[in-house]
Amino acid sequence: MKKLKKIRITILLLLFLNIFLVNELLNTSKVLKEMENTLENSAVYISQLQKLTSIGRLTDEHIHSDIKIFIQNKEINLNIKELEAPEYGTIDFWKTNKVSKFVHLHEGVKNIGVIHVHAKGIKLGMFLTTINAVMNDTCLKLPQTISNNTYCDDEKNTLKVYVNGKQINNPQYHEFKDLDQILISYGNQTNQELKTQLSIVGNISCISSENCVKE
Ligand SMILES: [Zn+2]
Ligand SMILES: [Zn+2]
Repeated sequence: MKKLKKIRITILLLLFLNIFLVNELLNTSKVLKEMENTLENSAVYISQLQKLTSIGRLTDEHIHSDIKIFIQNKEINLNIKELEAPEYGTIDFWKTNKVSKFVHLHEGVKNIGVIHVHAKGIKLGMFLTTINAVMNDTCLKLPQTISNNTYCDDEKNTLKVYVNGKQINNPQYHEFKDLDQILISYGNQTNQELKTQLSIVGNISCISSENCVKE
């Protein structure tokens, strides 16, 4: 009789263990299925988004542009801590969410006013959006950390954008090229003042691109 009881308990235990294992297996396959769906979804999302935006993958490009912004002849410094990315490729860089991985400013003297572009198809307007600024043909809103003002064309002042010395229209859609020298200028400047601003844009982005013309 005692032996029979033992067998019964063993069978019961085995039954419980079986139920537990089956349950675990079902759960695991459910989790795996969910993971598969998420991965599949992410892959579709990336490829579709690439088609919609024409932006390449991270690191398929690494170019640099100089940028200067003047409001009423006063230079705006974009290189403040809140808007700068940690050094590219470091753990801090991958961990931070404060700036875009695709296009950003970096800290350091050789990076003042230098935009680093790490993917194909990035446009000037996109960069400004990533630092919470906005620009269209007639208005510029600076990053909130710098100013709350929006500067729009009026009877006196106009917004002008120059790339490599030439004024451009629809500046927000300008796609970055290596060593672009970009000036965003708002106000009622004289031609002489504009010339001075253009000369201040500089070309230190060539240091990061390792493409400086030797004299
Ligand atoms: Zn970078
Ligand atoms: Zn760079």
